[in-house]
Amino acid sequence: MTEHEHVRVAVVGSGFGGLGAAVRLRREGVTDFVVLERAGSVGGTWRDNSYPGCACDVPSHLYSFSFAPNPEWPRTFSGQDHIRAYLEHVTDLFGLRPHLRFDSEVKVMRWDAEKLHWEIETASGTLTADLVVSATGPLSDPKIPDVPGIDTFPGKIFHSARWDHDYELRGKRVAMIGTGASAIQIVPAIQPEVERLTLFQRTPPWVMPRMDRAISGAERWLHRQLPFITKARRGLLWGIRELQVQAFTKRPEELGLVERLAKRNIARAVKDPELRARLTPDYRIGCKRILLSNTYYPALTRPNVDVVASGLARIEGSTLVAADGTTAEADAIVFGTGFHVTDMPIAERVVGADGRTLAETWKGGMQSLRGATAAGFPNWMTIIGPNTGLGNSSMILMIESQLNYLADFVRQLDVLGGRVALDARPGAVDAWNHRVQERMRRTVWNTGGCNSWYLDANGRNTTIWPGTTTEFRSATRRVDLAEYEVLRAPIPGLSPAPEKTEVQA
Ligand code: NAP
Repeated sequence: MTEHEHVRVAVVGSGFGGLGAAVRLRREGVTDFVVLERAGSVGGTWRDNSYPGCACDVPSHLYSFSFAPNPEWPRTFSGQDHIRAYLEHVTDLFGLRPHLRFDSEVKVMRWDAEKLHWEIETASGTLTADLVVSATGPLSDPKIPDVPGIDTFPGKIFHSARWDHDYELRGKRVAMIGTGASAIQIVPAIQPEVERLTLFQRTPPWVMPRMDRAISGAERWLHRQLPFITKARRGLLWGIRELQVQAFTKRPEELGLVERLAKRNIARAVKDPELRARLTPDYRIGCKRILLSNTYYPALTRPNVDVVASGLARIEGSTLVAADGTTAEADAIVFGTGFHVTDMPIAERVVGADGRTLAETWKGGMQSLRGATAAGFPNWMTIIGPNTGLGNSSMILMIESQLNYLADFVRQLDVLGGRVALDARPGAVDAWNHRVQERMRRTVWNTGGCNSWYLDANGRNTTIWPGTTTEFRSATRRVDLAEYEVLRAPIPGLSPAPEKTEVQA
Protein backbone atom coordinates (compact mmCIF):
# COMPACT_ATOMS: atom_id res chain seq x y z
CA MET A 1 0.00 0.00 0.00
CA THR A 2 1.27 3.49 -0.87
CA GLU A 3 2.46 5.55 2.05
CA HIS A 4 1.55 9.18 1.63
CA GLU A 5 3.02 12.27 3.17
CA HIS A 6 1.40 12.80 6.55
CA VAL A 7 0.79 16.13 8.27
CA ARG A 8 -0.81 16.92 11.57
CA VAL A 9 -3.19 19.51 10.09
CA ALA A 10 -4.32 20.22 6.53
CA VAL A 11 -5.90 23.64 6.07
CA VAL A 12 -7.97 24.02 2.91
CA GLY A 13 -8.02 27.53 1.43
CA SER A 14 -5.82 30.57 1.89
CA GLY A 15 -8.28 33.41 2.27
CA PHE A 16 -8.82 35.20 5.57
CA GLY A 17 -10.00 31.93 7.17
CA GLY A 18 -7.15 29.70 5.99
CA LEU A 19 -4.40 32.22 6.65
CA GLY A 20 -5.89 32.99 10.05
CA ALA A 21 -5.91 29.25 10.87
CA ALA A 22 -2.27 28.98 9.78
CA VAL A 23 -1.22 31.88 12.03
CA ARG A 24 -3.16 30.41 14.93
CA LEU A 25 -1.70 26.93 14.49
CA ARG A 26 1.82 28.34 14.56
CA ARG A 27 0.98 30.31 17.69
CA GLU A 28 -0.24 27.10 19.29
CA GLY A 29 3.12 25.53 18.51
CA VAL A 30 1.83 23.41 15.60
CA THR A 31 4.23 23.66 12.69
CA ASP A 32 3.45 20.35 10.98
CA PHE A 33 0.70 21.64 8.70
CA VAL A 34 0.04 22.57 5.09
CA VAL A 35 -2.32 25.07 3.51
CA LEU A 36 -3.87 23.61 0.35
CA GLU A 37 -4.86 26.27 -2.17
CA ARG A 38 -6.49 25.61 -5.54
CA ALA A 39 -5.15 28.82 -7.10
CA GLY A 40 -1.61 30.11 -7.49
CA SER A 41 -1.68 32.80 -4.80
CA VAL A 42 -3.30 33.59 -1.45
CA GLY A 43 -6.31 35.83 -0.89
CA GLY A 44 -9.45 33.75 -1.39
CA THR A 45 -12.44 35.86 -2.28
CA TRP A 46 -10.22 38.98 -2.26
CA ARG A 47 -8.03 37.41 -4.94
CA ASP A 48 -10.91 36.14 -7.07
CA ASN A 49 -13.10 39.24 -6.99
CA SER A 50 -11.25 41.81 -9.05
CA TYR A 51 -14.24 43.36 -10.81
CA PRO A 52 -14.22 47.13 -11.45
CA GLY A 53 -15.19 48.98 -8.29
CA CYS A 54 -14.61 46.00 -5.96
CA ALA A 55 -14.22 47.19 -2.39
CA CYS A 56 -15.25 46.14 1.08
CA ASP A 57 -18.34 47.64 2.67
CA VAL A 58 -17.00 47.02 6.19
CA PRO A 59 -14.42 49.57 7.39
CA SER A 60 -10.87 48.25 7.05
CA HIS A 61 -9.85 48.89 10.64
CA LEU A 62 -12.51 46.33 11.58
CA TYR A 63 -12.19 44.16 8.47
CA SER A 64 -8.68 42.97 9.34
CA PHE A 65 -7.11 40.61 11.87
CA SER A 66 -6.92 41.89 15.45
CA PHE A 67 -3.45 40.31 15.65
CA ALA A 68 -2.25 42.08 12.51
CA PRO A 69 -3.44 45.69 12.67
CA ASN A 70 -2.59 47.78 9.64
CA PRO A 71 -1.89 51.45 10.38
CA GLU A 72 -1.57 52.12 6.65
CA TRP A 73 -5.15 51.57 5.48
CA PRO A 74 -5.57 54.30 2.87
CA ARG A 75 -9.36 54.66 3.04
CA THR A 76 -12.06 53.95 5.56
CA PHE A 77 -13.45 51.32 3.14
CA SER A 78 -10.53 49.77 1.30
CA GLY A 79 -10.53 48.51 -2.25
CA GLN A 80 -9.89 44.90 -3.25
CA ASP A 81 -6.26 45.56 -4.21
CA HIS A 82 -5.40 46.87 -0.73
CA ILE A 83 -7.13 43.99 1.03
CA ARG A 84 -5.40 41.47 -1.20
CA ALA A 85 -2.03 43.16 -0.53
CA TYR A 86 -2.80 43.02 3.21
CA LEU A 87 -3.30 39.24 3.02
CA GLU A 88 0.00 38.83 1.13
CA HIS A 89 1.63 40.92 3.86
CA VAL A 90 0.11 38.75 6.62
CA THR A 91 1.46 35.67 4.81
CA ASP A 92 4.99 37.07 4.92
CA LEU A 93 4.75 38.61 8.38
CA PHE A 94 3.86 35.29 10.00
CA GLY A 95 6.21 33.15 7.91
CA LEU A 96 3.41 31.17 6.26
CA ARG A 97 4.97 30.71 2.80
CA PRO A 98 6.68 27.36 3.58
CA HIS A 99 3.26 25.90 4.48
CA LEU A 100 1.51 26.94 1.26
CA ARG A 101 0.73 24.39 -1.47
CA PHE A 102 -0.60 26.19 -4.53
CA ASP A 103 -2.44 24.52 -7.43
CA SER A 104 -3.58 21.89 -4.94
CA GLU A 105 -7.34 21.84 -5.32
CA VAL A 106 -8.85 19.22 -3.02
CA LYS A 107 -10.60 16.57 -5.12
CA VAL A 108 -11.81 14.44 -2.25
CA MET A 109 -11.05 13.85 1.43
CA ARG A 110 -11.99 10.59 3.12
CA TRP A 111 -12.02 9.71 6.80
CA ASP A 112 -10.08 6.54 7.51
CA ALA A 113 -11.89 5.14 10.55
CA GLU A 114 -9.14 2.67 11.35
CA LYS A 115 -6.16 4.92 11.11
CA LEU A 116 -8.10 7.90 12.43
CA HIS A 117 -6.88 10.27 9.80
CA TRP A 118 -8.05 11.98 6.63
CA GLU A 119 -6.81 10.89 3.25
CA ILE A 120 -6.82 13.91 0.98
CA GLU A 121 -6.51 13.73 -2.79
CA THR A 122 -5.46 17.02 -4.31
CA ALA A 123 -4.56 18.21 -7.79
CA SER A 124 -0.91 18.02 -6.76
CA GLY A 125 -0.91 14.65 -5.00
CA THR A 126 -2.31 12.72 -2.04
CA LEU A 127 -1.55 13.25 1.63
CA THR A 128 -2.98 12.29 4.99
CA ALA A 129 -3.75 14.53 7.96
CA ASP A 130 -4.89 14.02 11.56
CA LEU A 131 -7.08 17.11 11.38
CA VAL A 132 -8.66 19.03 8.52
CA VAL A 133 -9.53 22.71 8.77
CA SER A 134 -11.77 23.55 5.84
CA ALA A 135 -11.56 27.28 5.17
CA THR A 136 -13.07 27.38 1.71
CA GLY A 137 -15.41 30.24 2.54
CA PRO A 138 -19.08 30.65 1.68
CA LEU A 139 -18.44 33.07 -1.20
CA SER A 140 -15.96 31.08 -3.24
CA ASP A 141 -17.90 29.23 -5.94
CA PRO A 142 -19.80 31.51 -8.33
CA LYS A 143 -23.42 30.75 -9.17
CA ILE A 144 -24.67 31.36 -12.69
CA PRO A 145 -28.40 30.64 -13.03
CA ASP A 146 -29.43 28.02 -15.52
CA VAL A 147 -31.15 30.49 -17.85
CA PRO A 148 -32.85 28.76 -20.81
CA GLY A 149 -31.07 29.60 -24.06
CA ILE A 150 -27.83 30.73 -22.42
CA ASP A 151 -25.85 28.62 -24.89
CA THR A 152 -27.40 30.50 -27.82
CA PHE A 153 -25.85 33.80 -26.69
CA PRO A 154 -23.15 34.71 -29.21
CA GLY A 155 -21.36 37.30 -27.07
CA LYS A 156 -19.23 37.30 -23.93
CA ILE A 157 -20.47 35.93 -20.59
CA PHE A 158 -18.75 36.13 -17.25
CA HIS A 159 -19.43 36.17 -13.52
CA SER A 160 -18.55 39.09 -11.26
CA ALA A 161 -16.07 36.89 -9.35
CA ARG A 162 -14.33 35.71 -12.55
CA TRP A 163 -13.88 39.04 -14.31
CA ASP A 164 -12.25 38.81 -17.72
CA HIS A 165 -9.89 41.80 -17.74
CA ASP A 166 -8.87 41.06 -21.32
CA TYR A 167 -12.39 41.72 -22.57
CA GLU A 168 -12.95 45.36 -23.53
CA LEU A 169 -16.34 46.60 -22.31
CA ARG A 170 -15.88 50.06 -23.82
CA GLY A 171 -18.54 50.79 -26.40
CA LYS A 172 -20.41 47.51 -25.79
CA ARG A 173 -24.03 46.83 -24.91
CA VAL A 174 -23.75 45.17 -21.52
CA ALA A 175 -26.41 43.37 -19.51
CA MET A 176 -25.81 43.25 -15.76
CA ILE A 177 -27.79 40.51 -14.03
CA GLY A 178 -28.50 41.00 -10.35
CA THR A 179 -28.49 43.84 -7.86
CA GLY A 180 -26.50 42.43 -4.92
CA ALA A 181 -23.41 43.86 -3.22
CA SER A 182 -21.23 42.98 -6.23
CA ALA A 183 -23.53 44.41 -8.93
CA ILE A 184 -24.06 47.74 -7.19
CA GLN A 185 -20.29 48.27 -7.19
CA ILE A 186 -19.88 47.17 -10.81
CA VAL A 187 -22.71 49.30 -12.28
CA PRO A 188 -21.24 52.75 -11.46
CA ALA A 189 -17.74 51.56 -12.35
CA ILE A 190 -18.60 50.43 -15.89
CA GLN A 191 -21.51 52.75 -16.74
CA PRO A 192 -19.33 55.63 -18.03
CA GLU A 193 -17.54 53.45 -20.58
CA VAL A 194 -20.19 51.11 -21.97
CA GLU A 195 -22.49 52.13 -24.79
CA ARG A 196 -25.60 50.77 -23.12
CA LEU A 197 -26.09 49.16 -19.73
CA THR A 198 -29.23 47.12 -19.05
CA LEU A 199 -29.67 46.15 -15.43
CA PHE A 200 -31.90 43.15 -14.74
CA GLN A 201 -33.25 43.75 -11.25
CA ARG A 202 -35.32 40.91 -9.83
CA THR A 203 -35.52 42.46 -6.36
CA PRO A 204 -34.42 46.02 -5.53
CA PRO A 205 -31.88 46.23 -2.70
CA TRP A 206 -31.92 48.79 0.11
CA VAL A 207 -28.95 51.09 -0.45
CA MET A 208 -27.60 53.53 2.15
CA PRO A 209 -24.92 56.22 1.73
CA ARG A 210 -21.32 55.07 2.05
CA MET A 211 -19.29 57.20 4.46
CA ASP A 212 -16.04 56.60 2.66
CA ARG A 213 -13.06 58.94 2.79
CA ALA A 214 -9.31 58.87 2.46
CA ILE A 215 -7.46 58.34 5.75
CA SER A 216 -5.07 61.28 5.94
CA GLY A 217 -1.29 60.99 6.26
CA ALA A 218 -1.52 62.54 9.74
CA GLU A 219 -4.06 59.94 10.87
CA ARG A 220 -1.90 57.13 9.52
CA TRP A 221 1.11 58.58 11.31
CA LEU A 222 -0.92 58.53 14.54
CA HIS A 223 -1.93 54.92 13.90
CA ARG A 224 1.73 54.01 13.39
CA GLN A 225 3.02 55.86 16.44
CA LEU A 226 0.19 55.13 18.86
CA PRO A 227 -1.17 51.62 18.30
CA PHE A 228 -3.81 52.13 20.99
CA ILE A 229 -5.51 54.62 18.63
CA THR A 230 -5.85 51.87 16.02
CA LYS A 231 -7.28 49.62 18.73
CA ALA A 232 -9.69 52.29 19.90
CA ARG A 233 -10.87 52.95 16.35
CA ARG A 234 -11.49 49.24 15.84
CA GLY A 235 -13.28 49.04 19.18
CA LEU A 236 -15.59 51.88 18.27
CA LEU A 237 -16.46 50.40 14.86
CA TRP A 238 -17.13 47.06 16.52
CA GLY A 239 -19.18 48.49 19.43
CA ILE A 240 -21.53 50.42 17.14
CA ARG A 241 -22.29 47.28 15.14
CA GLU A 242 -22.73 45.23 18.31
CA LEU A 243 -25.48 47.63 19.38
CA GLN A 244 -27.03 47.86 15.90
CA VAL A 245 -27.46 44.12 15.56
CA GLN A 246 -30.05 44.03 18.35
CA ALA A 247 -32.54 45.65 15.98
CA PHE A 248 -31.86 42.97 13.37
CA THR A 249 -32.11 40.07 15.80
CA LYS A 250 -34.74 41.19 18.29
CA ARG A 251 -36.62 44.28 17.15
CA PRO A 252 -36.98 44.36 13.35
CA GLU A 253 -39.89 46.79 13.69
CA GLU A 254 -37.40 49.48 14.80
CA LEU A 255 -35.78 49.30 11.37
CA GLY A 256 -38.63 51.37 9.90
CA LEU A 257 -36.67 54.50 10.82
CA VAL A 258 -33.68 53.27 8.82
CA GLU A 259 -36.01 52.58 5.88
CA ARG A 260 -37.08 56.22 5.91
CA LEU A 261 -33.42 57.30 5.68
CA ALA A 262 -32.85 54.84 2.84
CA LYS A 263 -35.91 56.15 0.95
CA ARG A 264 -34.53 59.66 1.33
CA ASN A 265 -31.29 58.36 -0.19
CA ILE A 266 -33.21 57.16 -3.26
CA ALA A 267 -35.18 60.39 -3.51
CA ARG A 268 -32.03 62.53 -3.35
CA ALA A 269 -30.48 60.79 -6.36
CA VAL A 270 -33.49 59.71 -8.44
CA LYS A 271 -35.87 62.46 -9.48
CA ASP A 272 -37.99 60.39 -11.90
CA PRO A 273 -40.87 59.04 -9.75
CA GLU A 274 -41.40 56.04 -12.01
CA LEU A 275 -37.75 54.94 -11.73
CA ARG A 276 -37.82 55.71 -8.01
CA ALA A 277 -40.80 53.39 -7.59
CA ARG A 278 -38.99 50.61 -9.46
CA LEU A 279 -35.96 51.01 -7.20
CA THR A 280 -37.88 51.05 -3.92
CA PRO A 281 -37.92 47.72 -2.07
CA ASP A 282 -41.12 46.35 -0.55
CA TYR A 283 -39.55 44.31 2.24
CA ARG A 284 -38.05 45.26 5.59
CA ILE A 285 -34.60 46.81 5.41
CA GLY A 286 -31.93 44.41 6.67
CA CYS A 287 -33.76 41.29 5.42
CA LYS A 288 -31.17 41.21 2.64
CA ARG A 289 -27.75 42.69 3.21
CA ILE A 290 -27.97 46.51 3.40
CA LEU A 291 -25.82 47.87 0.59
CA LEU A 292 -23.68 50.99 0.78
CA SER A 293 -23.06 53.25 -2.21
CA ASN A 294 -23.08 56.91 -3.17
CA THR A 295 -22.71 56.20 -6.87
CA TYR A 296 -25.19 53.40 -7.63
CA TYR A 297 -28.41 55.46 -7.85
CA PRO A 298 -26.80 58.36 -9.75
CA ALA A 299 -25.43 55.85 -12.32
CA LEU A 300 -28.93 54.44 -12.86
CA THR A 301 -30.21 57.88 -13.87
CA ARG A 302 -27.68 58.24 -16.73
CA PRO A 303 -29.11 58.20 -20.27
CA ASN A 304 -27.22 55.04 -21.30
CA VAL A 305 -28.76 52.92 -18.50
CA ASP A 306 -32.03 50.95 -18.48
CA VAL A 307 -33.38 49.32 -15.37
CA VAL A 308 -35.53 46.28 -16.14
CA ALA A 309 -37.48 45.60 -12.96
CA SER A 310 -37.72 41.89 -13.60
CA GLY A 311 -35.42 38.87 -13.53
CA LEU A 312 -33.71 37.45 -16.58
CA ALA A 313 -35.97 34.61 -17.78
CA ARG A 314 -34.45 33.43 -21.06
CA ILE A 315 -31.96 34.24 -23.77
CA GLU A 316 -32.64 34.05 -27.52
CA GLY A 317 -29.37 34.68 -29.34
CA SER A 318 -28.29 38.20 -28.45
CA THR A 319 -31.74 39.07 -27.06
CA LEU A 320 -32.27 38.86 -23.32
CA VAL A 321 -35.87 38.38 -22.21
CA ALA A 322 -37.04 39.32 -18.72
CA ALA A 323 -39.78 37.51 -16.82
CA ASP A 324 -42.14 40.44 -17.57
CA GLY A 325 -41.44 40.15 -21.31
CA THR A 326 -39.08 43.15 -21.60
CA THR A 327 -36.28 42.51 -24.08
CA ALA A 328 -32.77 43.92 -24.43
CA GLU A 329 -29.96 43.37 -26.90
CA ALA A 330 -26.49 42.73 -25.48
CA ASP A 331 -22.92 42.06 -26.57
CA ALA A 332 -21.88 40.92 -23.09
CA ILE A 333 -23.61 39.56 -19.99
CA VAL A 334 -22.15 40.03 -16.52
CA PHE A 335 -23.71 37.74 -13.94
CA GLY A 336 -23.65 39.31 -10.48
CA THR A 337 -25.74 36.40 -9.28
CA GLY A 338 -23.87 35.40 -6.17
CA PHE A 339 -22.37 32.17 -4.89
CA HIS A 340 -23.15 28.61 -3.85
CA VAL A 341 -23.59 29.36 -0.17
CA THR A 342 -26.16 27.00 1.32
CA ASP A 343 -25.00 24.17 -0.96
CA MET A 344 -21.32 24.54 0.02
CA PRO A 345 -19.48 22.83 -2.90
CA ILE A 346 -16.63 21.41 -0.78
CA ALA A 347 -19.27 19.33 1.07
CA GLU A 348 -19.53 17.02 -1.95
CA ARG A 349 -15.85 16.22 -1.58
CA VAL A 350 -15.81 15.34 2.12
CA VAL A 351 -16.55 11.68 2.84
CA GLY A 352 -17.22 10.93 6.51
CA ALA A 353 -17.04 7.96 8.84
CA ASP A 354 -20.06 6.13 7.38
CA GLY A 355 -19.00 6.66 3.76
CA ARG A 356 -21.53 9.41 3.11
CA THR A 357 -20.48 12.82 1.88
CA LEU A 358 -21.09 15.92 3.92
CA ALA A 359 -23.39 17.11 1.10
CA GLU A 360 -25.55 13.96 1.55
CA THR A 361 -25.56 14.45 5.32
CA TRP A 362 -26.63 18.06 4.78
CA LYS A 363 -29.21 17.45 2.07
CA GLY A 364 -31.98 18.56 4.44
CA GLY A 365 -29.93 21.70 5.26
CA MET A 366 -26.48 22.48 6.61
CA GLN A 367 -26.02 22.05 10.32
CA SER A 368 -22.94 22.02 12.45
CA LEU A 369 -21.88 22.26 16.06
CA ARG A 370 -20.91 25.86 16.90
CA GLY A 371 -20.42 26.64 13.20
CA ALA A 372 -17.42 24.33 13.13
CA THR A 373 -17.83 20.56 13.31
CA ALA A 374 -20.30 18.00 11.95
CA ALA A 375 -21.44 14.64 13.37
CA GLY A 376 -19.81 11.72 11.57
CA PHE A 377 -16.88 13.82 10.36
CA PRO A 378 -14.28 13.38 13.10
CA ASN A 379 -11.37 15.77 13.36
CA TRP A 380 -12.84 17.94 10.61
CA MET A 381 -13.85 21.51 11.13
CA THR A 382 -14.82 24.41 9.00
CA ILE A 383 -14.06 28.06 9.45
CA ILE A 384 -17.20 30.18 9.06
CA GLY A 385 -19.43 27.19 8.62
CA PRO A 386 -23.24 27.11 9.01
CA ASN A 387 -24.87 30.01 10.90
CA THR A 388 -21.76 32.08 11.38
CA GLY A 389 -22.57 34.83 8.87
CA LEU A 390 -23.20 38.42 9.88
CA GLY A 391 -25.65 40.87 8.40
CA ASN A 392 -23.95 44.02 9.63
CA SER A 393 -20.42 43.50 10.93
CA SER A 394 -17.00 42.09 10.09
CA MET A 395 -16.65 38.40 9.30
CA ILE A 396 -13.09 38.58 10.56
CA LEU A 397 -14.52 38.73 14.10
CA MET A 398 -16.33 35.44 13.49
CA ILE A 399 -13.26 33.89 11.87
CA GLU A 400 -11.17 34.78 14.93
CA SER A 401 -13.77 33.19 17.23
CA GLN A 402 -13.54 29.99 15.24
CA LEU A 403 -9.75 30.16 15.47
CA ASN A 404 -10.13 30.13 19.25
CA TYR A 405 -12.24 26.99 18.88
CA LEU A 406 -9.65 25.44 16.57
CA ALA A 407 -6.87 26.21 19.04
CA ASP A 408 -8.77 24.55 21.88
CA PHE A 409 -9.66 21.58 19.66
CA VAL A 410 -5.94 21.01 19.04
CA ARG A 411 -5.20 21.43 22.77
CA GLN A 412 -7.90 18.89 23.69
CA LEU A 413 -6.45 16.35 21.26
CA ASP A 414 -3.04 16.91 22.87
CA VAL A 415 -4.41 16.48 26.38
CA LEU A 416 -6.26 13.28 25.43
CA GLY A 417 -3.01 12.05 23.89
CA GLY A 418 -2.26 9.19 21.50
CA ARG A 419 -4.07 8.48 18.25
CA VAL A 420 -7.36 10.16 18.98
CA ALA A 421 -10.21 11.95 17.23
CA LEU A 422 -13.20 14.01 18.27
CA ASP A 423 -16.55 13.46 16.60
CA ALA A 424 -19.44 15.83 17.31
CA ARG A 425 -22.35 14.03 18.98
CA PRO A 426 -25.58 14.19 16.93
CA GLY A 427 -27.47 15.26 20.05
CA ALA A 428 -25.11 18.17 20.62
CA VAL A 429 -25.41 19.25 16.99
CA ASP A 430 -29.21 19.10 17.21
CA ALA A 431 -29.31 21.02 20.48
CA TRP A 432 -27.06 23.77 19.09
CA ASN A 433 -29.13 24.11 15.93
CA HIS A 434 -32.39 24.09 17.85
CA ARG A 435 -31.12 27.03 19.91
CA VAL A 436 -29.89 28.86 16.80
CA GLN A 437 -33.17 28.36 14.90
CA GLU A 438 -35.27 29.36 17.91
CA ARG A 439 -33.41 32.66 18.09
CA MET A 440 -33.67 33.04 14.33
CA ARG A 441 -37.46 33.09 14.36
CA ARG A 442 -37.87 36.74 15.22
CA THR A 443 -34.89 38.11 13.28
CA VAL A 444 -35.31 40.41 10.30
CA TRP A 445 -33.67 37.77 8.07
CA ASN A 446 -36.57 35.40 8.70
CA THR A 447 -39.43 37.84 9.17
CA GLY A 448 -38.54 40.68 6.80
CA GLY A 449 -40.52 39.39 3.82
CA CYS A 450 -37.67 38.78 1.39
CA ASN A 451 -35.99 35.82 -0.23
CA SER A 452 -32.23 36.06 0.32
CA TRP A 453 -29.18 33.86 -0.08
CA TYR A 454 -29.23 33.45 3.71
CA LEU A 455 -32.09 30.95 3.27
CA ASP A 456 -31.61 27.47 1.85
CA ALA A 457 -33.85 25.61 -0.60
CA ASN A 458 -36.18 24.68 2.30
CA GLY A 459 -36.45 28.29 3.47
CA ARG A 460 -34.28 27.62 6.54
CA ASN A 461 -31.71 30.23 7.50
CA THR A 462 -28.49 28.22 7.70
CA THR A 463 -26.06 31.05 7.13
CA ILE A 464 -26.60 33.86 9.63
CA TRP A 465 -25.63 34.02 13.29
CA PRO A 466 -28.69 35.36 15.14
CA GLY A 467 -26.80 37.21 17.86
CA THR A 468 -23.89 39.47 18.69
CA THR A 469 -20.28 38.65 17.84
CA THR A 470 -19.60 38.70 21.60
CA GLU A 471 -22.08 35.88 22.13
CA PHE A 472 -20.45 33.84 19.39
CA ARG A 473 -17.00 34.56 20.85
CA SER A 474 -18.09 33.17 24.19
CA ALA A 475 -19.80 30.12 22.60
CA THR A 476 -16.58 29.17 20.80
CA ARG A 477 -14.02 29.94 23.49
CA ARG A 478 -13.66 26.30 24.53
CA VAL A 479 -14.39 22.87 23.11
CA ASP A 480 -16.80 21.15 25.48
CA LEU A 481 -15.75 17.50 25.44
CA ALA A 482 -19.23 16.46 26.55
CA GLU A 483 -20.38 17.47 23.06
CA TYR A 484 -17.99 15.01 21.43
CA GLU A 485 -17.34 11.34 21.18
CA VAL A 486 -13.69 10.55 21.72
CA LEU A 487 -12.49 8.00 19.19
CA ARG A 488 -9.33 6.02 19.77
CA ALA A 489 -7.45 3.92 17.28
CA PRO A 490 -7.78 0.17 17.86
CA ILE A 491 -4.84 -1.59 19.42
CA PRO A 492 -3.62 -4.04 16.74
CA GLY A 493 -4.85 -7.58 17.45
CA LEU A 494 -7.07 -6.46 20.33
CA SER A 495 -10.03 -4.33 19.32
CA PRO A 496 -11.59 -4.51 15.84
CA ALA A 497 -12.90 -0.94 15.56
CA PRO A 498 -12.13 2.48 17.01
CA GLU A 499 -13.19 2.68 20.60
CA LYS A 500 -15.61 5.33 21.72
CA THR A 501 -14.78 6.81 25.08
CA GLU A 502 -17.50 8.44 27.13
CA VAL A 503 -16.38 11.72 28.61
CA GLN A 504 -18.39 13.13 31.47
CA ALA A 505 -19.39 16.79 31.33
P1 NAP B 1 -25.98 38.16 -4.12
O1 NAP B 1 -26.08 39.08 -2.98
O2 NAP B 1 -26.35 36.74 -3.92
O3 NAP B 1 -26.84 38.78 -5.28
C1 NAP B 1 -27.22 38.04 -6.39
C2 NAP B 1 -28.15 38.88 -7.21
O4 NAP B 1 -28.47 38.17 -8.40
C3 NAP B 1 -29.47 39.19 -6.51
O5 NAP B 1 -29.81 40.52 -6.74
C4 NAP B 1 -30.44 38.22 -7.19
O6 NAP B 1 -31.77 38.66 -7.20
C5 NAP B 1 -29.86 38.28 -8.58
N1 NAP B 1 -30.33 37.25 -9.51
C6 NAP B 1 -30.18 35.90 -9.43
N2 NAP B 1 -30.75 35.34 -10.50
C7 NAP B 1 -31.26 36.34 -11.26
C8 NAP B 1 -31.96 36.40 -12.49
N3 NAP B 1 -32.29 35.31 -13.17
N4 NAP B 1 -32.32 37.63 -12.99
C9 NAP B 1 -32.01 38.75 -12.31
N5 NAP B 1 -31.34 38.74 -11.14
C10 NAP B 1 -30.98 37.56 -10.63
O7 NAP B 1 -24.50 38.13 -4.77
P2 NAP B 1 -23.33 39.22 -4.68
O8 NAP B 1 -23.80 40.56 -5.08
O9 NAP B 1 -22.16 38.66 -5.39
O10 NAP B 1 -23.03 39.30 -3.15
C11 NAP B 1 -22.87 38.13 -2.36
C12 NAP B 1 -22.29 38.50 -1.04
O11 NAP B 1 -20.92 38.77 -1.22
C13 NAP B 1 -22.83 39.77 -0.41
O12 NAP B 1 -24.05 39.64 0.20
C14 NAP B 1 -21.72 40.10 0.54
O13 NAP B 1 -21.81 39.33 1.70
C15 NAP B 1 -20.51 39.71 -0.28
N6 NAP B 1 -19.98 40.89 -0.97
C16 NAP B 1 -19.47 41.83 -0.17
C17 NAP B 1 -18.99 42.98 -0.73
C18 NAP B 1 -18.43 43.98 0.19
O14 NAP B 1 -18.43 45.12 -0.11
N7 NAP B 1 -17.96 43.58 1.38
C19 NAP B 1 -19.01 43.17 -2.09
C20 NAP B 1 -19.53 42.17 -2.90
C21 NAP B 1 -20.03 41.02 -2.32
P3 NAP B 1 -32.74 38.39 -5.92
O15 NAP B 1 -32.37 39.45 -4.92
O16 NAP B 1 -34.10 38.56 -6.47
O17 NAP B 1 -32.46 37.01 -5.45
